[in-house]
Amino acid sequence: MNSASHYRGRLAPSPTGYLHLGHARTFWRAQARARARGGTLILRNEDMDAARFKMEFVEAMLEDLRWFGLAWSEGPDVGGAHAPYNQSERMEIYRAALDQLRAQNLIYPCVCSRKDIQAAVTAPHLGDEELVYPGTCRPKEGDQQQVTSDTNSEPSAFSRTTHHASRSPAWRFRVSDGETISFHDGNFGRQSFVAGRDFGDFVVWRGDGVPAYQLACVVDDAAMRITEVVRGADLLLSTARQLLLYRALGMPAPDFFHCELLCDDAGQRLAKRHDALSLRQLRARGESPASLRAGWGGH
Ligand SMILES: [Zn+2]
Repeated sequence: MNSASHYRGRLAPSPTGYLHLGHARTFWRAQARARARGGTLILRNEDMDAARFKMEFVEAMLEDLRWFGLAWSEGPDVGGAHAPYNQSERMEIYRAALDQLRAQNLIYPCVCSRKDIQAAVTAPHLGDEELVYPGTCRPKEGDQQQVTSDTNSEPSAFSRTTHHASRSPAWRFRVSDGETISFHDGNFGRQSFVAGRDFGDFVVWRGDGVPAYQLACVVDDAAMRITEVVRGADLLLSTARQLLLYRALGMPAPDFFHCELLCDDAGQRLAKRHDALSLRQLRARGESPASLRAGWGGH
């Protein structure tokens, strides 16, 4: 789809902890794919998660990435044509996208807590699979007009859910139930997810006043003219959601390449809490980037 344009890839780390080997492998893959196409690689600092965000992690993140051998030609530290590259400085862009979705009647306010959703979901769910939102706050078809025409005061869907009236509402994107979202993944091949079954109405704006990952990511990848998104396989389902947002916002979607996730010796997915496999720790133990990459067997 984007093969005719100049390749633009991105590294989009989140400074909520120290980067680990799994991040490094995905980023290394992203860099290799950009280089193989003579493309541009940018760095975007996904620092939207205000509660967990720490300045020290931003510094550490940049340092760890450079130490590992990653290089970018646009980013928060070097600037570029699509600045700012810190998500926390891009609120106006996200707000405009939210307004666009609201004007199209594609989103609605939701005051459900995670507990509410768990209680309302009757089907058993597996492991850490995300819950499919049961549609508690979704306006009935006939209510849609009211929600649109009344954005400045309490929307009808919000006033119906008075049990949580003290909480500021999140905004959910209404998915088209039963629609199959398919895409070609550069690594895993054809992927298909069914809206309303594999994922439900999802949050685009959080109750604490910041855009959700799905919205910020789509808006930025489009604005920064990214042609291929390389990221972990844990985000395959997010890609289905994001494709709905690209369509709704009238933005061209990039190509996607999802990477296998790195597991520890016990077969557990690496997370930021795995301090032993953080780049900082590995470096302190005398590991070199080359020796770490040698363990990946070809990737
Ligand atoms: Zn709700």
